[in-house]
Amino acid sequence: MANEARAGIRATGVSKTFDTGTHALDAVDFAIEPGEFVAVLGPSGCGKSTLLRILAGLIPGNAGGTVSIAGERVVRPRPDVGVVFQTHNLLPWLTVERNIRLAADLRRSERSGLDARVQDMVKLLRLDGFEQRHPHELSGGMQQRTAIGQTLLLRPSVLLMDEPFGALDALTRDHLNVELLRIWQELRQTVVLVTHSIAEAVFLADRVLVMSPRPGRIIEDYRVPIERPRQPQTTKGTPEFGQAVLHLSRLMGVV
Ligand code: ADP
Repeated sequence: MANEARAGIRATGVSKTFDTGTHALDAVDFAIEPGEFVAVLGPSGCGKSTLLRILAGLIPGNAGGTVSIAGERVVRPRPDVGVVFQTHNLLPWLTVERNIRLAADLRRSERSGLDARVQDMVKLLRLDGFEQRHPHELSGGMQQRTAIGQTLLLRPSVLLMDEPFGALDALTRDHLNVELLRIWQELRQTVVLVTHSIAEAVFLADRVLVMSPRPGRIIEDYRVPIERPRQPQTTKGTPEFGQAVLHLSRLMGVV
């Protein structure tokens, strides 16, 4: 199921001032390699979501800055870029299975072998047995897994996630972090994950882009010095994990 068409991302001088005058982002530069898992970490209101929406082509940055994916300038949403938000957009009257296949059903190019792919996705997300349930019959974690499945079924080469587990309780969030890591290890898309959780960023990412308070700038591009594969039992108790969390906590002014 590995995705062959991975894509890199490059942001150059990306700034954003909203019509209201709010200066949300200031000259953000970075490059992300194909298949890399990058977390964007920063305090609330520093422009993380704004940055993600610009990467997704949902809103424009200020003139002068550019974002490119797979070498092409982003000016609108791309079919090979999937986005997962904090609150899911599942349709309450459709089953898990129908929700997962909804976006693919709407795209003619995605329809070949769709039934089998939906079954694979249900298994990958460990939703077997819940295919015919409706969103209100699921836990928050399962709803969010369904929403991730909807996006992954389109086989995106880039997955942009904006606090995908932010509305969940801490235990469910930890559990879904492990699931996300397992899925990414299998599919290896390029991932950009916006989070304000330091532990989540360290556990999941190859690199962490740390942002300043608004207007958001990248104050450090931190490579997480922890080998893969990672497991909560073996990774989270190590001195390397503790040191990485401490380093990022100091940068964020938390300790
Ligand atoms: P974060 O995701 O880091 O919490 P956001 O990107 O959501 O931060 O917001 C950054 C700043 O931009 C905030 O001050 C927010 O109020 C402002 N902002 C976000 N979206 C808009 C908008 N559509 N219009 C005006 N201001 C906005």
